[in-house]
Amino acid sequence: MPTEPVTEYDPSLGRKFIFVTGGVMSGLGKGITAASTGRLLANAGFDVTAVKIDPYLNVDAGTMNPYQHGEVYVLKDGGEVDLDLGNYERFLDIDMTFDHNVTTGKTYQHVIEKERAGDYLGNTVQIIPHITDDIKRRIREAAEGHDVCIVEVGGTVGDIEGMPYLEALRQFAHEEDDGDILFTHVTLVPYSKNGEQKTKPTQHSVKELRSIGLQPDILVGRCEDKLDPETKEKIALFCDVPTEAVFSNPDVEDIYHVPLMVEDEGLDRYVMERLDIADEALPRDERANDWRELVTRETTGTVDIALAGKYDLEDAYLSVHEALKHAGLEHGVDVNVLWVDTEEMTPEHRERLEGADGLIVPGGFGARGTEGKLEAVRYARENGVPFLGLCLGFQMAVIEYARDVCGLDGANSTELDEETPHPVIDILPEQYEVEDMGGTMRLGAHETAIQEGTLAAELYGGDSCTERHRHRYEVNPEYIERLEEAGMVFSGTAANRMEILELPDHPYFIGTQFHPEFRSRPGRASPPFVGLLDAILDDEPTDRAEEVSA
Ligand code: GLN
Repeated sequence: MPTEPVTEYDPSLGRKFIFVTGGVMSGLGKGITAASTGRLLANAGFDVTAVKIDPYLNVDAGTMNPYQHGEVYVLKDGGEVDLDLGNYERFLDIDMTFDHNVTTGKTYQHVIEKERAGDYLGNTVQIIPHITDDIKRRIREAAEGHDVCIVEVGGTVGDIEGMPYLEALRQFAHEEDDGDILFTHVTLVPYSKNGEQKTKPTQHSVKELRSIGLQPDILVGRCEDKLDPETKEKIALFCDVPTEAVFSNPDVEDIYHVPLMVEDEGLDRYVMERLDIADEALPRDERANDWRELVTRETTGTVDIALAGKYDLEDAYLSVHEALKHAGLEHGVDVNVLWVDTEEMTPEHRERLEGADGLIVPGGFGARGTEGKLEAVRYARENGVPFLGLCLGFQMAVIEYARDVCGLDGANSTELDEETPHPVIDILPEQYEVEDMGGTMRLGAHETAIQEGTLAAELYGGDSCTERHRHRYEVNPEYIERLEEAGMVFSGTAANRMEILELPDHPYFIGTQFHPEFRSRPGRASPPFVGLLDAILDDEPTDRAEEVSA
């Protein structure tokens, strides 16, 4: 498990903070609004980082299933975190660490451990000040060395779980200089039946914030359309902010357009003025424009990718969707992802698989739907359909090959069938004794050595890559020879771990034990994903090693 920071906070650390809260209901995309503001500040030359606060009692997101919380995002240091951190990494083009995700579980665990160690001897340990101090410490430490730190509080104002955090932010604002902190509140502005933008939910939510001592500086209204000038004026009047501090965040087709939209509304300019950093910003014509160019590029066609997984939920495979989008941006095509239900391969789902231009089998846990995944892999292998297997998808490719090419009937992973006669995928030796489920997998960034002359070498443009991992099972070394004799090539390895597989006589058949999707960014798409589209669009694979293997 990643180590916890132990230093006590120094009030002089970090500079400017933007606290982002949400009202009315969750799922308004306040993370995207916050990340977009950060992108624009970064374009203006500031070093921006972010902290996501998750008020749940889990220590980290690693033990939650995708229905609860979407995908578990993995950081380079092995932190298993909320998918919002993935959005911050992608929007800000930064690598964050486990410390940038503050959870109630982590905070309480730390304070209680300190209590047991006698650090508070003689005192009653309480939410205020002990928990709130620990929250403030974590925010200050994560902000250290950056110009601006965006702090997003998960959930909705008024939730019991969120209270200690809002109290901590109130104290934080009290301790810092006025000009160093901004409170942004994101709320919903619904339409009434007769087409009127309604501000009452926003008013109530701001009232709730004020009752705990927080006055927002900026209000962002999520609405189907832009807020009308009268709506903005009304919100300003009732919520006690200047009209120019009220911004719209209308529905957009593509989240990557949100930075452009908030820029058009002048949110970045207002933030910089209020934080008194406008003079330090790069002049508008010198700011990086790559983002705008990239995300508004004309597309020349659509590629259909079948995603064979068990969840009909984009958030469950968010980073895979994003990585496909990044590869699409690079090729100037739209990528249409078709979900193939591997649990119930109905004729409709089989048709989707067979109609797609390429197949991805993503990561996953447990036996449910795996026979359908194997069927999908077999289809792609036998029919020359470009295929990318990620983690469990890599393991599926090994199992399918063992069964159908090597003739090892009943081959399986011991995770899925403990009694399998051919455990071609088996638990990692270092996992034998592990009993705890939280933070105990092989996690985070590890280097893979790549064999010369292989597809992997061509994709990564070199002899190594460093990608993020999250798994407990691997190729059983006892079966490597048999798989290789039958034609499977393990082109990426880390000591005796098999990390990348490929089939040389197939147009594009590659699997990775790691998750390349977590390092994919707009403008720096992940090589195996770009390769997948290369194969589909019949392009020469491009060499982008220098850009990606930092
Ligand atoms: N369940 C598999 C393992 O633990 C694959 C994990 C994954 O796909 N992230 O090895």
